[in-house]
Amino acid sequence: MKLTYQPFELLLKHTFTIAKFSRTSTPVMLVQVAHEGQIGYGEASMVPYMGESFQTATDFLGKVDAAQFKYPFDFEAILTYLDDIMPGNSAIKAGIDIALHDLDGKLRQKPCWQLLGSDPANMPLTSFTIGIDTPEVIIQKVKENPDCKIIKVKLGRDSDKDLINTIRTVTDLPLFVDANQGWTDLQQSLDMTHWLHEQGVLLIEQPMLKTDPDSNAWLTERSPVPIIGDESVQRLGDVEKAKGVYHGINIKLMKSAGMYEAHQMINKARQLDLKIMIGCMSETSCATLAAAALAPQCDWADLDGPFLTSNNPYQMPNFSEGKWILNNDNGLGIKV
Ligand code: MG
Repeated sequence: MKLTYQPFELLLKHTFTIAKFSRTSTPVMLVQVAHEGQIGYGEASMVPYMGESFQTATDFLGKVDAAQFKYPFDFEAILTYLDDIMPGNSAIKAGIDIALHDLDGKLRQKPCWQLLGSDPANMPLTSFTIGIDTPEVIIQKVKENPDCKIIKVKLGRDSDKDLINTIRTVTDLPLFVDANQGWTDLQQSLDMTHWLHEQGVLLIEQPMLKTDPDSNAWLTERSPVPIIGDESVQRLGDVEKAKGVYHGINIKLMKSAGMYEAHQMINKARQLDLKIMIGCMSETSCATLAAAALAPQCDWADLDGPFLTSNNPYQMPNFSEGKWILNNDNGLGIKV
């Protein structure tokens, strides 16, 4: 088993602004695991606010002994091994886990989605995110993505209603809203959920601070629109805590340390009767295909990473009528 990696600066098409920051690129570590003539591809997308970087990923990878990855893979044991090396570092752990899943599919000669029990017929529509911007740029972004069937909007500023009104001048597509913890006043937030409901909003992500479950729970109890925990839900242990606080959770491979634990989180959320959204960071086709392999088991998908970047090192996977199309290739189906 041979583990190699390469830093890659993934460029964003548009400067990305959410409630708390702006940026123009994302550091990504491209991971490869080779075994018996096959190569598994993985990716760690290290958005700055999650605390990982080329340096932390390189340090972590320097401590990983690929001889520990015995085939056939025991993904639970592998994740325990990675967690024992160091806590946190969930993106680079995901990079390794995704590469091993891709390799596993290639060695077993089956697509990952099939090995994970997904039915491609249940693939949900993927939303396209539009950052906070001037009305002209927003209108241009909406027009740039004709395949888009759901728009995701980042809110959390005083001009939230203006932004929605601007979008409504160009399209009546359904909307996802992500407040990224930007809402503070309870009554104003509740009024906003009702207003957004009238505007065709299907869900609201992380309205209030992740550290304030009481306020999020208060809003969840009253909101006509499903409230989804994102920043507050990182790994498997957080799913149970989301019950009663949110209607559902947003699972991202870069938070869950990869596909194995994301799948466990899906199963746990179903047991608890929580709704499930599967999301992404700024990512290449690699991590997007990994999430797409699990997406048919989720209610909503927000897997627009490759559409928002300009130097994806892999081919764009097939996308049609607002949905990713899973192919029958072994592994993740990445085309290099
Ligand atoms: Mg979010």
